[in-house]
Amino acid sequence: MSTDISHGFAPEIFSSNSAFSSELTIGGVSATALAKEFGTPLFVVDEADFTSRALAFKAALDLHFGHHAGKVYYASKAFLNKEIARWIEASGLGIDVASGGELAVALAVNFPADRIQVHGNNKSEDEIEKAIMAGVGAIVVDSFHEIERVARIAVNHKKIQRVFIRVTAGIEAHTHEFIATAHEDVKFGFSLASGAAWKAIEEIRAHKSLHLIGLHSHIGSQIFDAQGFGVAAERLISLLAKFREHYADELPELDLGGGFGVAYLPGEESVNPDSVLAELSKVVAEECAKAGIRVPHISIEPGRAIAAPTTTTLYTVGTTKNIELDGGNTRRYIAVDGGFTDNMRPALYDAKYHAVLANRTSSSHRVTSRIVGKHCESGDIIIRDIELAEDIHPGDLIAVPVTGAYGRQMGSNYNHLTRPAVVAVKNGKARVIVRRETVEDLLALDI
Ligand SMILES: *Cc1c(COP(=O)(O)O)cnc(C)c1O
Repeated sequence: MSTDISHGFAPEIFSSNSAFSSELTIGGVSATALAKEFGTPLFVVDEADFTSRALAFKAALDLHFGHHAGKVYYASKAFLNKEIARWIEASGLGIDVASGGELAVALAVNFPADRIQVHGNNKSEDEIEKAIMAGVGAIVVDSFHEIERVARIAVNHKKIQRVFIRVTAGIEAHTHEFIATAHEDVKFGFSLASGAAWKAIEEIRAHKSLHLIGLHSHIGSQIFDAQGFGVAAERLISLLAKFREHYADELPELDLGGGFGVAYLPGEESVNPDSVLAELSKVVAEECAKAGIRVPHISIEPGRAIAAPTTTTLYTVGTTKNIELDGGNTRRYIAVDGGFTDNMRPALYDAKYHAVLANRTSSSHRVTSRIVGKHCESGDIIIRDIELAEDIHPGDLIAVPVTGAYGRQMGSNYNHLTRPAVVAVKNGKARVIVRRETVEDLLALDI
């Protein structure tokens, strides 16, 4: 407990155009004004921040790989709607989609098909067909069944489809470490160690309707150690070398996936695109020289690192409760108007978040508090333990930063809650880019 009047605003984890004086402002718009105009819970995206993070990855890839730079594909599953797809398009990035729904969003804003890459470990025939008809830049094939499916559907449409092979390189990445293993017990891709990846190469080459352009690897998410990407690069480059030896030909592309880690709590640091790509370019150059192959075009697929830090969720406090614990301590429950349907990550991964009282400062004691949602589950916790002002009361606003990735996108309608609106803020102006779901929307599905 302390009598600190600081509001807990930690600039390093709020979107870059956020500030706190008498209250939180994002993109020049106050938390109070946002809540009043758009209601809560509310996802507030700092538009300029989003664009600049996308551009930073592109600039760093271009800088460190020069004419070997492939593309930055935004992994849209992190956070996708039409407006975000437009921002990504305007920034000159490509986009990764992992379902027919995500593809439909990209196509709805005329995202150039040759900059769309299609992922997924179980793409349906319909999804494959839509992707091929749209003329997507590449399909990343994930299984032997899929090689046959993509080849057959391409033949039916008289097309030659460019494909990548998703390779599992035997890297398990955890937040602050990675483990290099020989085998991968995961549902994704073709394993390198077992020879499945090589067999996939041979099968693809046997289909005239498929054009193999390169290898793909995605080692995980929320990775802070660039060495994990380095080991994956090294292993895939050895496969590229084997390809060249065998076919006297070179695969021109290598996609090293996403997973760049971001800060969620005060004092943490996000992975810097410039340093990680500088490091990667060294590894790639060295390994290619060793293997005696030309440096391929290198692409990456950041999702979280672009989207997460740009967005803050605003909630309204509904109730507070003090629970006496054994030992004489008190736990203060602060219940807000959303919950694990707008942020599953704490329940799913035990993910940690920070929060601030957003609509005012407070000089009252800070007490250990727990921020909970309004769902009928005791696990509906947004922040398990946080020091917050004791005078927080119904009607106050709570802001939770770094909610742009896997937040609204993983959301659900449990308890028939309607999903929050998404508002973009920039230069003192706010506008809705995804409207709040209504009860009519929910009822519209029922027969
Ligand atoms: C999820 C995913 C990404 C993005 O991961 P982040 O951790 O959000 O950067 C990139 N590529 C593939 C294939 C993915 O599945």
